Amino acid sequence: MALIVQKFGGTSVGTTDRIKNVARRVAEYRARGDRLVVVVSAMSGVTDGLIKLAKDITPLPSEREMDMLLATGEQQTIALAAIALHSMKIPAVSLTGAQAGIVTDGVHTKAKIKNITPRQVHGLLNEGNVVIVAGFQGRTDEGEITTLGRGGSDLTAIALAAALNADLCQIYTDVDGVYTADPRIVTSARKLDEIAYDEMLELAGAGAKVMQLRSVEFAKKFGVTFEVRSSLNDNPGTLVKEETRSMEDVVIRGVSLDKNQAKLTIVGIPDQPGRAARIFRALGDAAINVDMIVQSASHGGGSPATDISFTVDKPDLLKARTVLESTHQEIGHREVLADEGIGKVSIVGVGMRSHTGVAGKMFEVLAFEGINIDMISTSEIKISVVVKLAQGEQAVRALHKAFIG
Ligand code: ASP
Ligand code: MG
Repeated sequence: MALIVQKFGGTSVGTTDRIKNVARRVAEYRARGDRLVVVVSAMSGVTDGLIKLAKDITPLPSEREMDMLLATGEQQTIALAAIALHSMKIPAVSLTGAQAGIVTDGVHTKAKIKNITPRQVHGLLNEGNVVIVAGFQGRTDEGEITTLGRGGSDLTAIALAAALNADLCQIYTDVDGVYTADPRIVTSARKLDEIAYDEMLELAGAGAKVMQLRSVEFAKKFGVTFEVRSSLNDNPGTLVKEETRSMEDVVIRGVSLDKNQAKLTIVGIPDQPGRAARIFRALGDAAINVDMIVQSASHGGGSPATDISFTVDKPDLLKARTVLESTHQEIGHREVLADEGIGKVSIVGVGMRSHTGVAGKMFEVLAFEGINIDMISTSEIKISVVVKLAQGEQAVRALHKAFIG
């Protein structure tokens, strides 16, 4: 008798028929004697719709109130899923994140889980219930409602699997697993049977939006092996797990495109110690994630100045500009330029550790396509470049062909 955590994303619960499908799948597992904790997202489009309502009123709504608003999305789904199971005569109880014992810090809209005390979950399981938990939400020690960042239901599932010491964690989504590239962009992309946490992390960080980044980090930290698979069929998915020796034989596991970044360039920063620190401290304090950073060579002779370009998530662009305006006095830069027309293209694979010449080959492929590289960053197992958004898909196709086939 296994304890299984199953997570169903927005599309998997996007209509009442889909919710009934989820209930049927849950019922099948239960019939085998498994104990089930089911984590659900808001129905697809609901979270976006709620955000739009708030932004119709004001561009920068209070983050506390956004959490209050967005948490309602998942609450609809847990109740509907429980109702669907009841209609099949299966005992089920829905719980909010708070009721499931998920305690977070107080960073509204991007809260981090501090601990989980799933007392109520255990109790309900022991009474024979399927327990349905609202993804993406928790509460602070003070009882404030928080959310875990977009896509946060994945984190709820992984964290619950760790806290409950579950035998299996399944992330059901609308794709069959993790692919070598987005199949909508690369027709020859194929599903991977397995992938290492670090590869998955770099791919997720590079914009392959199969799963939320933080949830994979969490899984790695707590050693939660999980399966990403489709809720629309019974095909086996992709197992995400610790790296094994044989994984290094493959140089590049996947190619990805992130269209969700924007580039900011701060022009004419006095080239003195402490300016960059001040800029990125202020952005960090505002909980803005900065990804790539490039500083140009000093220019300007007598009073040398420099430019710093960096990328942020597109939704954070306005906030980042506001932060930079507020620090203008201290930093003394000339101006800030924003560019939303960029794409970040990445190749990822643990095999890079033991194979050389990968960067050279990547840049050659792009040069051959006539694609200009704007920024470059590398890690041990990833190389990313920023290119014009309009050339992003072309770059992905060419790189997939060159490295994966
Ligand atoms: N409903 C939330 C979102 O759309 C959380 C999730 O789907 O995982 O981001
Ligand atoms: Mg989702």
